[in-house]
Amino acid sequence: MQLQRFQIPIHKLDCIFISHLHGDHYLGLMGLLFSMHLQRRVNNLHLYSQPGLDEIILLHLKHSNSVLNYQIHFHLFDPTIPVVIYEDQILTVETIPLIHKLPCAGFLFKEKTKSVNLNKDKLISGMLIQHIAALKTGADVYDAQGALLYRTSDFTLPPAPSYSYAFCSDTAFNEKIVEQIRAVTLLYHEATFMESEKAKAHETKHSTAKEAATLATLCNAQKLIVGHFSARYRELQPLLNEAREIFSNTFLAEEGNTFEIPS
Ligand SMILES: [Zn+2]
Repeated sequence: MQLQRFQIPIHKLDCIFISHLHGDHYLGLMGLLFSMHLQRRVNNLHLYSQPGLDEIILLHLKHSNSVLNYQIHFHLFDPTIPVVIYEDQILTVETIPLIHKLPCAGFLFKEKTKSVNLNKDKLISGMLIQHIAALKTGADVYDAQGALLYRTSDFTLPPAPSYSYAFCSDTAFNEKIVEQIRAVTLLYHEATFMESEKAKAHETKHSTAKEAATLATLCNAQKLIVGHFSARYRELQPLLNEAREIFSNTFLAEEGNTFEIPS
């Protein structure tokens, strides 16, 4: 419903990552799967989760006597260890073991190193197309006798930076993940409670806004987004203020907000 409300085309979704099996993290999924079916999706859909989600979905399909137009591929992982669960030419996705009432993993999306850019001002007239193509891949060019013709660094500009995004929800404060997400571009971390409710946060294996900000500081994140606020907070500004006292570049995850990353 929310995806449609914010006009995000659901047919473009090929992979869905589920952190754990508390209802607020997957109950919307069945509706989404049927919406995809009604929109006549035919492309495969990949679901990444710990074991259990497959049973839940297959049971729904069985008892509603439904056969989807498309195939679902379940990719089940062990949430207790970091593991790369997805890789393509652009990025990898690895799990981040979290501490919660149920087995739970966050996800680290990491862009691979990008290719160098040709510096067109430096190109020499008469250069062969295949030599330019080779320079673009970051390779030096040699002649048939093995002598260096063109050094790639003389004709290219450094690649654009690679970005990363860590999604950490739901979890108690967990210093063990700091090394895995060090220098992450964008950190999403849950901040269910304020520090005044720290005991409640510990009991329910959630975090406070201060703890989320502390983690962002420890891992040297560039930007922090906090979310998953308890319904008891009608006003979210105090949570944001609490986090910003520790980590100033913090923002609230509110429905419909978008955050730009320079390309
Ligand atoms: Zn939960």
